[in-house]
Amino acid sequence: MEQKKRLFIAQPHGVCAGVERAIDTVEEVLKTANGTVWVLHELVHNDFLTEELTRRGVRFTENINDVPDGSVLLFGAHGVGNDVEELARRKKLQITDATCPLVCKLQKAACDAVKNGEKVILFGHKNHPEVCGVLGRLPEETVFPVSSPAEVSALPDLNGTPCRMLSQTTMNTQEIGEVFSAVQKRFPHALPGTGACYATTQRQNAVRKLAEKVDFIVILGSVRSSNSRRLQEIAAACGAESLLLDSAAELPPELLKNRTAVGLSSGASVPEQLFTECVRKLEESGFNEKVIVSGE
Ligand code: SF4
Repeated sequence: MEQKKRLFIAQPHGVCAGVERAIDTVEEVLKTANGTVWVLHELVHNDFLTEELTRRGVRFTENINDVPDGSVLLFGAHGVGNDVEELARRKKLQITDATCPLVCKLQKAACDAVKNGEKVILFGHKNHPEVCGVLGRLPEETVFPVSSPAEVSALPDLNGTPCRMLSQTTMNTQEIGEVFSAVQKRFPHALPGTGACYATTQRQNAVRKLAEKVDFIVILGSVRSSNSRRLQEIAAACGAESLLLDSAAELPPELLKNRTAVGLSSGASVPEQLFTECVRKLEESGFNEKVIVSGE
């Protein structure tokens, strides 16, 4: 008798509310804009969406100086700093802001902390647009970006100055806990602030649960997507082999051949269409019995 092959599907999947909002925003702008629509950085970190928008005439740039004065420009889901907003005003750009409300919440928490006389200790990836956007809203001497507990040890002595712990929204929730603990050990008066967003937290929880059930997990997402890469790191930390793929077309059949169970998850910027295609491809490889694994 042929052995059953099971596909464990992480819930939630498809784009998060912040990415959906950014996509809806660019669609609205495309309906009304005369001339080229520009997007600073990527709208979200997903090649499929970037290519689709490029095909429809949207132009992406890493540098606001590339955008001709007076043009239509969107800020993507990761947000920007005051410096970029100021330059946009000077260039008389017609701005639409698609920053995710949860990134806005982080930016506000950072600005409020500094207004209250606190220093901000920000856990995140220093070159990620979200972190650059927060740093670009605060005077340099008020914020300390860190990417590990070791970097917390290397911070200068804050001499009892009030400080606030914040995190980029897409960091590993376990690492946020470790970094915040290191901060509190070093600066016992440090106050807790915002951590990972719910979309990140739920996806990470689901991958931890998947790793209890399978030893091989396929994760759909871009290597440039912070939340997708965290899912792969979490799978590895839980002892599961994993692959980070842009789409089902990259699924290597030889890796599926002798398996009887596979997990499937996706980053928060992966459209549902790509997820469904991957499920279909796994079904074609015999993984017909599906089990939902919820991270909620
Ligand atoms: S991952 Fe979180 S912060 Fe980023 S766009 Fe989605 S909901 Fe917003």
